Amino acid sequence: MRGLMQETPLLISSLIDYAATYHGDTEIITRTVEGPIHRSTYAEVGRRAKQLANALKRLGVEFGDRVGTLAWNTHRHFEIYYGVSGSGFVLHTVNPRLFPDQIEYIINHAEDKLVFVDLTFVPLLERCADKLKTVQGFVIMTDAEHMPKTTLPNVHCYETLIGAESDVFAWPTFDENTASSLCYTSGTTGNPKGVLYSHRSTVIHSFMVCMGDTIGVTSHDSVLVVVPLFHANAWGMPYAAAMCGAKLVFPGQAMDGKNICELLQNEKVTLSMGVPTVWLMLFQYADQNPGLKLPDLGRVVIGGSAAPRAMIKRFHDDFGARVIHAWGMTEMSPIGTAGHLLRKQMDLDIEQQIDIQARQGRAVYGVGLKIVDDDGKELPRDGKAFGHLMVRGPCITRSYFKGEGGQIVDADNWFDTGDIATLDGDGFMQITDRSKDVIKSGGEWISSIDLENEALGHPGVQEAAVIGVTHPKWQERPLLVVVKKKGAEVSRDDVLKYLESRVAKWWLPDDVVFVDELPHTATGKLLKTKLRQDFKDYRLPTASDAAE
Ligand code: ADP
Repeated sequence: MRGLMQETPLLISSLIDYAATYHGDTEIITRTVEGPIHRSTYAEVGRRAKQLANALKRLGVEFGDRVGTLAWNTHRHFEIYYGVSGSGFVLHTVNPRLFPDQIEYIINHAEDKLVFVDLTFVPLLERCADKLKTVQGFVIMTDAEHMPKTTLPNVHCYETLIGAESDVFAWPTFDENTASSLCYTSGTTGNPKGVLYSHRSTVIHSFMVCMGDTIGVTSHDSVLVVVPLFHANAWGMPYAAAMCGAKLVFPGQAMDGKNICELLQNEKVTLSMGVPTVWLMLFQYADQNPGLKLPDLGRVVIGGSAAPRAMIKRFHDDFGARVIHAWGMTEMSPIGTAGHLLRKQMDLDIEQQIDIQARQGRAVYGVGLKIVDDDGKELPRDGKAFGHLMVRGPCITRSYFKGEGGQIVDADNWFDTGDIATLDGDGFMQITDRSKDVIKSGGEWISSIDLENEALGHPGVQEAAVIGVTHPKWQERPLLVVVKKKGAEVSRDDVLKYLESRVAKWWLPDDVVFVDELPHTATGKLLKTKLRQDFKDYRLPTASDAAE
């Protein structure tokens, strides 16, 4: 028997309609690419998204067509999120930090019909425009006054384009399983692969983000979205914020510590989200400005890579802010787990609480989670056994765009995340490694993430990466690669001594090397493939002992 409730489709347009109606005067703030701070509201975004929808229709974009963006976090990019998907077109957020040939590959693979581009990335597109086979036109996201001279063909100015349109537009109604947006994974191995979200998965994910034990965003929040709109839908915040009417603050391209700090202070930001690298920049700025306060900041969501324990503690000690450590991936919309203390853990002392927060948290409702061994057998949830982390649920992909990579889920829809993790009796998950980064030493596994985390606790260490290096006896042994803090005097032996009391003896890196900087992926993660390449001929001091 089918239920008798209304089968209203879950559509992205309903989010902006809701925000414009019930939170119309709530602000949307942007540090623009042109420079000044821009102030808008949900009512205005709602109107302009409709003007954009009319413009897209006039330009001949049709239902299901892909529309690309190469853009920073700004109010215009936010409007495009709604104008494009709300109309039944597919928003393809391109990561502008990818290599130019990858950008060309994914725009062609997605078959984008139109591309919206920020001033910053116009030169990048000019270089490959003639190779973009399906693109019929470009919209430069600025006003007439700032329009650059460009060799891009069929160019429009964003403000002129939408300014000519009416703000009356009836969002179309269609099946909630219709594609809404497309985001390619960074493809550290092989070509990038497209994750194709639907309206249904996006709206369900927004409910998940709003839940108190996930991010718990509400209309009382002012949210600084540092995570890029081109990185897994900025962790769903552009949708979730509209669902609850939270104020949004977009940093544009100014992601340095000073700018982030100014926005946090001036816009009374209560909640912010970003990868660890961004917070390291904020901390550096705080180091140069002793006594710096962020009185409104209550929660900081950290994900994308492991939030180091020292970072969680510093947010607590110096700024009184609670870190919500989250884990997920592009394929998961992206949130999978979020770290909150359970009621029974509220009385633990702060150090114990931070230990718990340093794990990646517990599954959010809607995300099925399990760990399995190499044969696919489920492993116990005892906090000790670690294995391949598998996920499934309504916001998790079942196939990449155009079937790239073939079958990616098993018969029961489980998707292998490529992460290695433990699960404890309370459901807390801890990532021990990416399966390709784990160090295999004499048949046992060493977690590179754990070692990096511990190394980051050393006061002289700015950034740390651990990779496995070939060893004649043990197959692989850990090498620690460190970027020192400015002006810090740290030696190899200092670091090893520091680690000695913190990790199992056989986990101790066989060597420590210092470098000026570490390679990162387009989404700000350590690029270990490059590092392994750089150190592929590195001879560990212990290698000769073993050979003797
Ligand atoms: P990319 O496009 O860089 O692959 P994703 O965000 O999809 O971007 O990457 C997902 C991966 O990032 C996860 O599978 C995991 O390895 C890593 N990751 C994300 N969050 C965390 C976290 N909190 N701790 C450790 N690793 C994380």
